[in-house]
Amino acid sequence: MSFKQSFNPQKLKKSMKNLKTLTVIVKDGKTLLDLPEFTDGTKLELRIISIEKSLQEQQTDQYLRDAEKVQSQDIFTEASALADEINLFHELNLIDPLLQAIEEQGYSQPSPIQAKAIPIVLKKRDILATAQTGSGKTAAFALPIIQILNAVKIKGKAYPRALILTPTRELAGQIGENITNYARHTYIRHATIYGGVSQHPQVRQLKQGKDIIVATPGRLLDLIDQGIADIDWIEILVLDEADRMLDMGFIHDIRKIIKMISDKCQVMMFSATMPPQILDLADKLLVDPKRISVDPPTSPVETIESSLFFVEKPDKFSLLLHLLKTEEVKKALVFMRTKFSANRIVKKLKREKINADAIHGNKTQNAREKALRDFKNGRIKVLVATDIAARGIDIDDITHVINFDMSNEAETYIHRIGRTARAGKSGIAFNFCMDGERPFLEDIERLIQQHLIRAEEYPFMSRFPAPSLTDLASTRKKLKSTYKKRKSKRTVKKKRRTSRK
Ligand code: AMP
Repeated sequence: MSFKQSFNPQKLKKSMKNLKTLTVIVKDGKTLLDLPEFTDGTKLELRIISIEKSLQEQQTDQYLRDAEKVQSQDIFTEASALADEINLFHELNLIDPLLQAIEEQGYSQPSPIQAKAIPIVLKKRDILATAQTGSGKTAAFALPIIQILNAVKIKGKAYPRALILTPTRELAGQIGENITNYARHTYIRHATIYGGVSQHPQVRQLKQGKDIIVATPGRLLDLIDQGIADIDWIEILVLDEADRMLDMGFIHDIRKIIKMISDKCQVMMFSATMPPQILDLADKLLVDPKRISVDPPTSPVETIESSLFFVEKPDKFSLLLHLLKTEEVKKALVFMRTKFSANRIVKKLKREKINADAIHGNKTQNAREKALRDFKNGRIKVLVATDIAARGIDIDDITHVINFDMSNEAETYIHRIGRTARAGKSGIAFNFCMDGERPFLEDIERLIQQHLIRAEEYPFMSRFPAPSLTDLASTRKKLKSTYKKRKSKRTVKKKRRTSRK
């Protein structure tokens, strides 16, 4: 690789945010700065260690100028995010058909979880990975699985050799869509299996013969019981969002499925959190696994303009209506805490002649798919969602995310607003914060280490005085306990009131 290709200053600047370590390896060359000798003597390695987030531009320029002196040398660079390497996709030993598909997807660089997981999966090792939705984890397991399966061409009808289990229908659909995109230049085909819809199309898919099954546990077991799905020959098993699968009560189904699979199977577990139950399952299921973790995102995408409105509960709908009518809202995703309030808001929006629909766990699969489809192709302008259903919403042109209710988990805020500004576009987030939600706001601002921009001059402004700016330095733990105290005080007051009655 030539110097100019690999040491692109623009790219370097882009990845600077996460940069902790930058390693430049000079092949057959002289030292750039104080280079320790590489052990085999043929290469010299420059390690510019601990370049923290604060790396100055001029420093970079100086490195680049120094590096330019070694014009004729081959230089390999590795920029490391969170102490590991960010490589280019073609440094991950992926086959050409996959590289072509990745290029068509417009991915320029592997995400940290991809850079870490892909080489290990290709070596057929088990992994236990801590990674969130949005980290790029689907490609981290799907790309190497496709490559491994594609290496052995099956004579005759394909049969399932890899099984990906996921908690929700939306996630299964999303993973299926990704596999279609990634595998399009290979032989590999997949079936997506989930409940809540007629099984016939899924049966048809399975009968055609597929290499990969992406499934939610319940429907898969159903089809196995009917003798339609066959997982006897599974070589690779992925448990995606394992913690959520346990939360949703799938543990018995998962145990049943695991019993049917060979213990020689390569297993990957992906989970956002690692509670003892998950570690216990991992202990039983994985053989000498490689532990991988990427930190949850703590900074929202920079192209999202997020502003804050102090507004009390009875006025939130009026403010929503006002913003939908006055702002340039083309496609808005509105987040509510409960399914009930999501339904109610949709009714109210429709009364105001605004096309809207809701997506949440109580809707049938067909209704959820229809809502998503309508939202995607612009038939509805507003999609009202709860957090659970919002997983897997990956639509490029959402212009606004509106947090009608503030998220009570700070990380969820980043996940929610990340539904806009996708595929390099910019986006806008509006946050409605009532008095009782201020602790959530403080939690969010501490996590992202910045204050949300306070909107100025808007109708329905809260009658409570605006709170002072969050102290970004104090700990979230303390804040949570303050909130608990406030909450318990409120509960005591409520109890007193009801007992008086
Ligand atoms: P996931 O965490 O797998 O749900 O991925 C989240 C989003 O990131 C999806 O829209 C993917 O298409 C996208 N994505 C995955 N890998 C990359 C990458 N290396 N570069 C850019 N986008 C990516």
